[in-house]
Amino acid sequence: MHIAIIGAGLSGLTCARRLHEQGHSVIVYEKSHAVSGRMSTRQTDFGGFDHGAQYFTASSDTFKEDVASWTKAGWVAPWQGKFVALDHGTATEAGKAGSRHVGVPGMRSVGVHLAQGLDVRTGQRVDHIEAHGEQWLLAVHCDTVPVAASAGPFDAVIVAVPADQATALLEVVPAFAKAAKKVFLVPCWTLMAAFQDSLELGYDGAWVNNSRLSWLAHDASKPGRRPGEHWIGQASAAWSIEHLEDEPDRVREKLLKAFHEATGSQVQPVFSTVHRWRYAQAATTLKDDCLWNKKLRIGACGDWFAAGLDGAGKIENAYLSGAALAAVIA
Ligand SMILES: Cc1cc2nc3c(=O)[nH]c(=O)nc-3n(C[C@H](O)[C@H](O)[C@H](O)COP(=O)(O)OP(=O)(O)OC[C@H]3O[C@@H](n4cnc5c(N)ncnc54)[C@H](O)[C@@H]3O)c2cc1C
Repeated sequence: MHIAIIGAGLSGLTCARRLHEQGHSVIVYEKSHAVSGRMSTRQTDFGGFDHGAQYFTASSDTFKEDVASWTKAGWVAPWQGKFVALDHGTATEAGKAGSRHVGVPGMRSVGVHLAQGLDVRTGQRVDHIEAHGEQWLLAVHCDTVPVAASAGPFDAVIVAVPADQATALLEVVPAFAKAAKKVFLVPCWTLMAAFQDSLELGYDGAWVNNSRLSWLAHDASKPGRRPGEHWIGQASAAWSIEHLEDEPDRVREKLLKAFHEATGSQVQPVFSTVHRWRYAQAATTLKDDCLWNKKLRIGACGDWFAAGLDGAGKIENAYLSGAALAAVIA
């Protein structure tokens, strides 16, 4: 079959790789200029910052197997950091070392490697899907280079984007659009800060209590990173929802203040910026592995499916959902 996949995050790329290996002809459309979606790394003069997903865990046998092979290939490594719970500068040891994995040299590398050898069209946003007899056409938009406004026809289409964005694309199958609409994604304001000298905090990751921030990470403590003192701070879901439309500079000031309060360090950064994730993680979930309509040959996958796990919104959900959809199509 000639198959279009919309979204080059982990779910779309996992599905694409497997369909490609089954002998299908696959084209992946990605609206950003890089692959890997929310498993992303922001490059700065101070080194890379994992400003999306921080790390991942593997509980299912299938994911464990692939993580082991990615580790052997060198794109993934365990993050042997020291993890604490933090309350106004007081740290209490928390979390088990060794069970968290990260991409090397940045989270984005997982997607970059999975995309190798696939036909991935970056910078191309799919605006809608329309029926063309028994096949599908995609309305595609690109800001930088002229592309044909209509792509296809395709025998099958897979939507591998966050549920909020999937709802509009899936309107061609109202039951699927209705299912996607049920999922609620929480936003996340993320602070990136680099310091000239070591803050000597004595930990690498911290779950923060009683603060605007809920998580801090010393990015350079992850394997394969450029040495340096660069930190990530993630605002809590409640704070991010309340301040979603605030000016980035104002958010940066507030999150830096929270960083100083949480860590007890008053050292000022030489660089800081913020990123707003409007759709960070799925807070509610669909129990299924994925969606697939065999007759119409249209489906959806992503981290908004439980896919056999207890919750959703995690890297393992995205992987399992993408793999499940490829298996159903096979
Ligand atoms: C701040 C933050 C922290 C997180 N922390 C963790 C963590 O520590 N551990 C963990 O396991 N998970 C974490 N996650 C969640 C994890 O990143 C996601 O579960 C996973 O990456 C989702 O993969 P996906 O393929 O389902 O979606 P995505 O990665 O979002 O991929 C979807 C892709 O589709 C593209 N797209 C969207 N619309 C269109 C369109 N119309 N046309 C073309 N392309 C389109 C997007 O640009 C994107 O690249 C975090 C996420 C965020 C944002």
